[in-house]
Amino acid sequence: MTARVYNFSPGPAILPLEVLEEVQRELLSYRGAGMSILEMSHRGKEYEEIQNETEALFKEVLNAPEEYRVLFMGGGASTQFALVAMNFLTPEAEADYIVTGSFAQKAYEEAARIGKVNIAATTEDTNFDRLPGMDEIKLSQAPVYVHFTSNNTIFGTQWQSFPEFKGTNLIADMSSDILSRPVDVSKFGLIYAGAQKNLGPAGVTVVLISPELLAKSNTKLPVIFRYATFAKNNSLYNTPPVFAIYIVNLVLKWVKKNGGLTAIEKRNREKAQLIYDAIDASNGFYKGHARKEHRSLMNVTFRLPNEELEKEFIAEAKQADLVGLKGHRSVGGMRASIYNAMPLEGCRRLAEVMKEFAKKKG
Ligand SMILES: *Cc1c(COP(=O)(O)O)cnc(C)c1O
Repeated sequence: MTARVYNFSPGPAILPLEVLEEVQRELLSYRGAGMSILEMSHRGKEYEEIQNETEALFKEVLNAPEEYRVLFMGGGASTQFALVAMNFLTPEAEADYIVTGSFAQKAYEEAARIGKVNIAATTEDTNFDRLPGMDEIKLSQAPVYVHFTSNNTIFGTQWQSFPEFKGTNLIADMSSDILSRPVDVSKFGLIYAGAQKNLGPAGVTVVLISPELLAKSNTKLPVIFRYATFAKNNSLYNTPPVFAIYIVNLVLKWVKKNGGLTAIEKRNREKAQLIYDAIDASNGFYKGHARKEHRSLMNVTFRLPNEELEKEFIAEAKQADLVGLKGHRSVGGMRASIYNAMPLEGCRRLAEVMKEFAKKKG
């Protein structure tokens, strides 16, 4: 077998090895069909089964209410920034955005091109190193929805418990922490997640929507932009990203096999703890970007004393088969993305390299 590295990339990101092996086994002939999923009609029995099963598995693993719908859409999470506003932000309505990072900001800016939006809170003043407290969030009179980002991929912060508001719909971009922990789906009007962080490959975005919000989906839009079109046609109005959905199916089975979201969260906590401990035990050699109480279990962001050392660290990590650690330019330093599929061993090795490097250079 080709040697594999520990891939800490923010996305597209590491996938479970078992899943990749299964894809490889089924690539040329899917269950005796004599052809690949890549080549099959999306109207055929084999594919339809995969998609129906993926929808059911997704709801089962997230323990979502029966009446919620799962939609498989293209265009990435960024397309949802626009679609959410196009579908629910009618001319009379307004919506509120909690801005806790670059993607949250982009979601707000996109919606501002479509309708009336307000920033209910922002933590830009401290370069998004934290999340706002409930007392900092100022909602408008009657927002049709409140949008927030559950995990801030670039800055490495994550809501530990979700904000709650009465009389509005909570909409969350969960692209980088979906399936990383249990979530009470019934509190949300809509959840969306691009697949390439924690769910599968790039190319599909999963949307989970409540029947109440679905009923409000704007019917004046071109049909292809309406959530209602995807719901009515079981995401088969046009050709869905079939291969990506098939891999999401395998990832969901892998999550189930690994004990579901409670077990996954426990493991994610252990993994993140190893790296945060290495930061905290370094006497300030490593500096975490996120405030401790808002630290993400998915993206660990930290800096070294200077950029020279950061370059050296990246080279040293690479020697130990640890790759994809360079941080985003808006934070600098390092970012270790440790999604569900990152094995504990990868985090242990990274923590080791961090400790040795700090001892040598600190
Ligand atoms: C990666 C990411 C996005 C952007 O996803 P695309 O699929 O590239 O559009 C949006 N939101 C969050 C939280 C992300 O992590």
